[in-house]
Amino acid sequence: MLWAASLCLLLASAVLGAPTNKPRQKVLLISFDGFRWDYDRDVDTPNLDKMAVDGVKALYVTPPYLTITSPTHFTLLTGRYIENHGVIHNMWFDTTSGQKWPYYQSLFVNEWWDNGTLPIWITAQRQGRKAGSLHFPGTACTYDGETAMIQEVEPILYDYKNETAWQVNTDKVMGWFRDQDLDFVSLYFGEPDGTGHRHGPDSPQRREMVAQVDRQVGYIRESVNRHELGDRLNIIITADHGMSTVLRGGLVEEIILSKIPGFSFSDLSFHLVDYGPSGMLLPKPGMLDKVYNALKGAHPHLHVYKKEDMPEHLHFSKNERILPIILWADIGYVINGYFPVQFNKGEHGYDNQEMDMKPFFRAVGPAFHRNLQVGPFETVNIYPLMCHILGIKPEVNDGNLNVVRHMLATSEATTPETTPEKAQNSIRHNVFTGLAAVGGFLIIVFILSLAKKFTRKSHKDRREDISDNLPEKDEDSKVTSF
Ligand SMILES: [Zn+2]
Repeated sequence: MLWAASLCLLLASAVLGAPTNKPRQKVLLISFDGFRWDYDRDVDTPNLDKMAVDGVKALYVTPPYLTITSPTHFTLLTGRYIENHGVIHNMWFDTTSGQKWPYYQSLFVNEWWDNGTLPIWITAQRQGRKAGSLHFPGTACTYDGETAMIQEVEPILYDYKNETAWQVNTDKVMGWFRDQDLDFVSLYFGEPDGTGHRHGPDSPQRREMVAQVDRQVGYIRESVNRHELGDRLNIIITADHGMSTVLRGGLVEEIILSKIPGFSFSDLSFHLVDYGPSGMLLPKPGMLDKVYNALKGAHPHLHVYKKEDMPEHLHFSKNERILPIILWADIGYVINGYFPVQFNKGEHGYDNQEMDMKPFFRAVGPAFHRNLQVGPFETVNIYPLMCHILGIKPEVNDGNLNVVRHMLATSEATTPETTPEKAQNSIRHNVFTGLAAVGGFLIIVFILSLAKKFTRKSHKDRREDISDNLPEKDEDSKVTSF
């Protein structure tokens, strides 16, 4: 009887508290590659500003290390640090054959991406949701035998700057949400990264590209309304990393490994350098200490670590793909191998604690508070946030929903019942179902107490052992307390 009473009360409270007529929440995750946290400070960005008023703006977010495109995007999709998801570099490489493939070709190397961690598309689909992806790094591959339900990968030599194509892609994704009822889509734009590399983060060209991104944000929100998705679509806009100016022209002493005394490329069996400010080395057998000792302290702006000694906060050590010696340069510097071959005016790949490496973050939609500014957080937390909104159980990850939960509106506020009429209907519905549940509960109590009386009577008649009545005494005292 106690059990029945508890169940009834639980049911009643669940029905009373549950939001009604709530459509399933959708999530659109957008990345504007290389959009640094402060890029809206020297450009007029009315649409990004409006998005902050209508939703949530974080001061900045912290990407995982290594702060380059494919690894950090896979963190957005999995909530795992790079050492844990295994996509440790933009370039697929094989230390035995010495092969290295560039960024675009590496997007198609399945075993590089599919190495034990499932991106959110697959997890969502396995829990009855529908997922898609357009141009987001990782889209081309198959994970544990599955791909996103709808996937579109850009062709080689794609023009990532074309604003008309941005609009076409945006409308295509909104069509997926509306016409095919997708629940989650990841959407990638390759700028302002390209312009930041080519012209530098302080250039007028970068500012013009940020203005284009802002126009696109306005277009995205207009497209949401045109497709009538505003009551159930949540949009998260962020990036994979920031950008920093490279110092050259005699301003600094460049880092050129071949010029460092005691260091020789002939002591290495494989290396990955000439890739911005980061590098990894595989010394030949027995040569590790020689290589390490030659490089350590050789340049005041070059950091040299054995893999096992990497600083904990970088989370870039515990993966067999990470090579035994890791190098990174301070802001302003890049690491050259034999001689300088890098001519970008802007770079990323630095320590993720550097402010220049921090991306921006905006979120808007029925799940989010309005006009809320929040402090910084790590991008590993975006994954559990998205899983929560989608109502799916996340895979093992390095994020924590509690870090970002304050951005979410309460359960009632996330329902799209914003009109007074709908809200009143909802209250009426709740009151009715609540009363019905309480009524049902009282009827059950009445029936059970009648049944008990009969049982007692028959017990007395049969002069059974009094121990039979002990549990009933207990039940009585508890039931009357309700
Ligand atoms: Zn990038």
